[in-house]
Amino acid sequence: MMLWTQLGNGNKKSETNKFLDMKTLLRVLVLLCTITVTAQDTYLHCGKLIDTKSGKVLKEKTIVVSGNKIISVENGYVNPTDDKDAVIDLKSKTVMPGLIDMHVHIEGETNPKSYLEEYTLNDADVAFNSVNYAKVTLMSGFTTVRDLGGSGVNVSLRNAISAGKIVGPRIFTAEKALGTTGGHADPTNGYKKSIVGNPGPKEGVVNGVEDAVKAVRQRYKNGADLIKITATGGVLSMAKSGQNPQFTIEEIKAICETANDYGFHVAAHAHGDEGMQRAILGGVKTIEHGTLMSAETMELMKKHDVYLVPTITAGKFVSDKAKIPGYYPEIIVPKALNIGPKIQGMFGRAYKAGVGIAFGTDAAVFYHGDNGKEFGYMVEAGMPEMETIQSATTTNAMLLKMETEIGQIKSGFIADIIAVNEDPTATISTMENVVFVMKDGVIYKK
Ligand SMILES: [Zn+2]
Repeated sequence: MMLWTQLGNGNKKSETNKFLDMKTLLRVLVLLCTITVTAQDTYLHCGKLIDTKSGKVLKEKTIVVSGNKIISVENGYVNPTDDKDAVIDLKSKTVMPGLIDMHVHIEGETNPKSYLEEYTLNDADVAFNSVNYAKVTLMSGFTTVRDLGGSGVNVSLRNAISAGKIVGPRIFTAEKALGTTGGHADPTNGYKKSIVGNPGPKEGVVNGVEDAVKAVRQRYKNGADLIKITATGGVLSMAKSGQNPQFTIEEIKAICETANDYGFHVAAHAHGDEGMQRAILGGVKTIEHGTLMSAETMELMKKHDVYLVPTITAGKFVSDKAKIPGYYPEIIVPKALNIGPKIQGMFGRAYKAGVGIAFGTDAAVFYHGDNGKEFGYMVEAGMPEMETIQSATTTNAMLLKMETEIGQIKSGFIADIIAVNEDPTATISTMENVVFVMKDGVIYKK
């Protein structure tokens, strides 16, 4: 401040030099501070540590974190020799890698006015709301999510989080989901005719192979990381059927082949069996919900190495809320009551049949932050506790092609680390109460 006010005293040259010197000095100071910060390592003393690779609960370990990476995992409680390093006491906790949810919609959240909000909220409103959803998701232990569709705000949100401007999980997003005219992802379903327009591939509405190719390329242009299709009707769209097939197999093949050109995998929302079969044969990587999956389709899933993302929490939530008069529009109610309660039973059968399971909840259909409830529902349906945790870590990391970076607590991996109060292999409900969160080496909850 003083340097600037002195600039007007006539001796401009020397003052400018003084100013530059000051600037250089400041730079050096900033640099020194940065070096000091990055030189600080964090030692996490873990009472129990879940090895997601082997499926074992280890005891008394120390995780050493430097920068955003895990640099070693030591036996016993090791203390740092440098007094600048920090020790975090998690001796009474169970520690594990940050969780991955393969199915969220980070832009929105259920409420009785959601349907009206389509007409009233601007993108900026959606963006401000989503900042909170992202934070809540991270604080509940989910350090990475796959976002399966929104308006495009999701791409900006992902970028803002990865640039460190706001707090949230690492996001892989589908941007806008693809549907067919009148299908589950047609953004104008339920609108009156005078405002419905004619949405096409740009808006994610596909009719025919040419549109399919264009819609995928548009997502690439818009900054998506993957593709989501709505292979059958869905519960919460303003349309009659929650399960009819909505794409031809040629359209799905065109989407999957084009997606492959851009390094995208394809996720398919599906409740009905026929649409599910077309999606699997068309080349998708995950089936979302899978409600009415037949035994034959389960075999097809295994044969084509397609994973089921169960979303049991969403199914239970919609069937509960559908009993409250007026919570959903009338056309939604019978679909929610019919489809919602069937997901958990199907999940149990699919797990027993050997279908690959990728943990995913459909958060937004229920409240963000409640994602951890899914673990208990999976266990209730017959999946062992440790396997539910593996599905939310190693399996999902593999599906996101991040298996050498996230999903395990191992030297060289990104420091995404969480802790719960109890051992989840004995008390799975502890997954609903995550008490410590580190993402990318930064502690967000302690
Ligand atoms: Zn969804």
